[in-house]
Amino acid sequence: MSAVLINGVAAARQLHDELCSAVETLVERGATPGLAVVLVGDDPASSVYVRNKVRRSVEAGLRSFHHELPASTSESDLLALIKRLNAAEDVDGILVQLPLPPHIDAQKVTAAIDPAKDVDGFHPINVGNLSLGAPALVACTPLGCMLLIKGVRKDLAGLSAVVVGRSNIVGKPLAQLLLRENCTVTIAHSRTKDLPLVCCGADILVAAAGRAGFIRGDWIKPGAIVIDVGINRIERDGKQQLVGDVDFEGARSVAGALTPVPGGVGPMTIACLLRNTIEAACRRRGISSPLANAAD
Ligand code: NDP
Repeated sequence: MSAVLINGVAAARQLHDELCSAVETLVERGATPGLAVVLVGDDPASSVYVRNKVRRSVEAGLRSFHHELPASTSESDLLALIKRLNAAEDVDGILVQLPLPPHIDAQKVTAAIDPAKDVDGFHPINVGNLSLGAPALVACTPLGCMLLIKGVRKDLAGLSAVVVGRSNIVGKPLAQLLLRENCTVTIAHSRTKDLPLVCCGADILVAAAGRAGFIRGDWIKPGAIVIDVGINRIERDGKQQLVGDVDFEGARSVAGALTPVPGGVGPMTIACLLRNTIEAACRRRGISSPLANAAD
């Protein structure tokens, strides 16, 4: 068997087109969604992420507010900016790019964002609502994973899902989303015993551990949907290369469907950020969303 490759680039492009039409509808209703992106410091990777987010949001027709602050910015100045953005009528979504400089408490900053504008889905209220099954803004990478999984198979009820990784931004929220879809969910981590055996039972296997190629083909149940969230930079044949957490060649001959790295989960993340901004705009303004339900 050779796995169907899940094309995250094409899925993200299709979602982006849907978002553009949704924004057009909202603009006609006089409700242009606005996204504020805050970058503190000059970390090169963060600068690239922020630039891409701003570019994509402008392309989709969103109002974009870009705040670049020096690395020396104090925590209280950043909190004051967030307070202003919370109060700003034309801002529907606030994203503070992580990581923050070490003198700033990221948890405090996340908690200061109005949950209704928390388009990263990291605020404790959104995390709590997700686990309660209540409406929530959901973290973008897990949301993107779910959209890809649902693109392969609509009804996930009763399937066994294994998520390798329990971070607050990927593993845990994704496990909640899979639970919401009535999967039987196992969360594995660095203390899990006999990980290969745990993975072997998975109809849906999500790798989010940040370990290059460590999920091997012989850990995968034949026909499983395999979602590789990992982004690892390695050197191969003297060249820098991006690889996932799954041994791609080994998995390809066993899995039913598989995301490549790059070109799988990654492209969905920014599209989901814009999606969350549109959802936040509609909820805040009390208007019906022109988008279909996320991950439905
Ligand atoms: P974290 O480092 O926060 O979490 C890694 C998780 O993997 C931890 O729960 C850890 O367990 C677990 N883990 C580590 N080693 C093993 C092991 N040998 N066996 C089992 N579990 C293990 O990472 P993130 O969740 O932030 O990111 C995970 C990966 O996803 C990274 O490669 C990251 O770059 C990528 N990523 C990709 C995104 C995208 O847009 N595609 C977005 C965000 C992340 P424990 O808790 O016990 O330490």
